[in-house]
Amino acid sequence: PPAIRIDNVVKRYAGARGEEGKLALKGVSFDVPQGQIFGLLGPNGAGKSTLINILAGLVMKTSGSAEIWGFDIDANPRNAKRSIGIVPQEIVFDPFFTPYEVLENQAGFYGIAKALRRSEELLAAVHLADKRNAYARALSGGMKRRLLVAKAMVHSPPVLVLDEPTAGVDVELRRQLWELVTGLNKEGVTVVLTTHYLEEAEQLCDRIAIINHGELIANKPTRELVGMA
Ligand code: ADP
Ligand code: ADP
Repeated sequence: PPAIRIDNVVKRYAGARGEEGKLALKGVSFDVPQGQIFGLLGPNGAGKSTLINILAGLVMKTSGSAEIWGFDIDANPRNAKRSIGIVPQEIVFDPFFTPYEVLENQAGFYGIAKALRRSEELLAAVHLADKRNAYARALSGGMKRRLLVAKAMVHSPPVLVLDEPTAGVDVELRRQLWELVTGLNKEGVTVVLTTHYLEEAEQLCDRIAIINHGELIANKPTRELVGMA
């Protein structure tokens, strides 16, 4: 199956006091092929986060279907969820946990047998081995971002989704995150990332889909898309 299949997905948010809610996705369809780095590009308000949040199970779609690794997110949510790791935009761990505890906890949620070994492996992979026992709140922004990636990879999902991983980060951290993402992709992880930087998508992605006002307006291999511009 494709890593992700989005089929005619519509999202209308609830409106206030009987008003009609915002139509954030107007029937979006695309596939993410296995093994790629796939960029979902579009300006603020285009609907990128809505789409990611639907895949994460945080937002209910209005209609249409979504599959992760062949598992329908409504019919087979547990298998769908096990097939994906999500790196959200916001920091989502307890500031008084250590990186090691954040990963141990996450491994516990997934019932991972060799949690200790997996946590050590991941801390090394994101270059946080020496910070394993520091409070998360004492980590730099870059370290926190890398810890989020490690947290998303605890259950070894075949698909990793990052929502605006480099929004508002400095050049050095952006380079670190790119390296981390391309490294995981080389090991076989399918990567989907949202961004509003065309340049970033061009450098990093095999394929780019462009979304604007809740509609998909392009979906092409990066080379063809750049050739058009
Ligand atoms: P992007 O991630 O591309 O910036 P979003 O998916 O966050 O876009 O937003 C798409 C549209 O849906 C925007 O018009 C936004 O204001 C609206 N929207 C997002 N979240 C909500 C929500 N919880 N309730 C109502 N409208 C929302
Ligand atoms: P299950 O339905 O399999 O019991 P949960 O929904 O309770 O799983 O969550 C499992 C793990 O995923 C928990 O560690 C939880 O903190 C984490 N999680 C849930 N939502 C998010 C999110 N938006 N970002 C990061 N981690 C999340």
